Amino acid sequence: MNLQPLLELSSREHAHLCPRQILGVRIGLAGLKALGLKEVPLKKQMLVISETDGCFVDGVIAATGCTVGHRTLRVEDYGKIAATFVDTTTGRAVRVAPSSDIRERAYAAAPQEARHYFAQMQAYQSMPDEDMLTIREVVLNTPIEKIVSRPGVRVNCDRCGEEIMNEREIHQNGLTLCKPCAQAGYYRVAHKLYFAIPQEAAI
Ligand SMILES: [Zn+2]
Ligand SMILES: [Zn+2]
Repeated sequence: MNLQPLLELSSREHAHLCPRQILGVRIGLAGLKALGLKEVPLKKQMLVISETDGCFVDGVIAATGCTVGHRTLRVEDYGKIAATFVDTTTGRAVRVAPSSDIRERAYAAAPQEARHYFAQMQAYQSMPDEDMLTIREVVLNTPIEKIVSRPGVRVNCDRCGEEIMNEREIHQNGLTLCKPCAQAGYYRVAHKLYFAIPQEAAI
């Protein structure tokens, strides 16, 4: 297992390499292996759903080539180091997570290193998958075709008028609405309005 080129790629945007990036590379490689996929780039044959953002994802990106920009990577922020790898052609999904005692396992695997951080750095690069990871098949609650959607599908929200892509609209009481208009979104409108061009739906 030669991790070095992937670790270099992962740390290129970072000031340094850290244990979470290494876990991202290891988990990314384990996901590819579990799905039986080898050739990176995968030309959209795989979708990765990461359960956190941050350094971990940089490692996953380095190992898989999947990115948000290519719509092959999504973040469901559970604040967990874990990711699910989906074969978009078959819908088969595999979730890979570190074992819950992975830190203790790392300290045991690098007994000569008293500094915990460096023990993790060493051990995460050398421990076999079966000593540090949990890999299991999962079933997506939203089918892969719905997550990926189709290109060129667009509607406008009946309330705010903004365009919605990728079939993310919600039908409610005969209206076609965007998620923040139909449910609570991640923001609420505040008082100050900087600039607004009247939209057709609002006139
Ligand atoms: Zn980092
Ligand atoms: Zn709306």
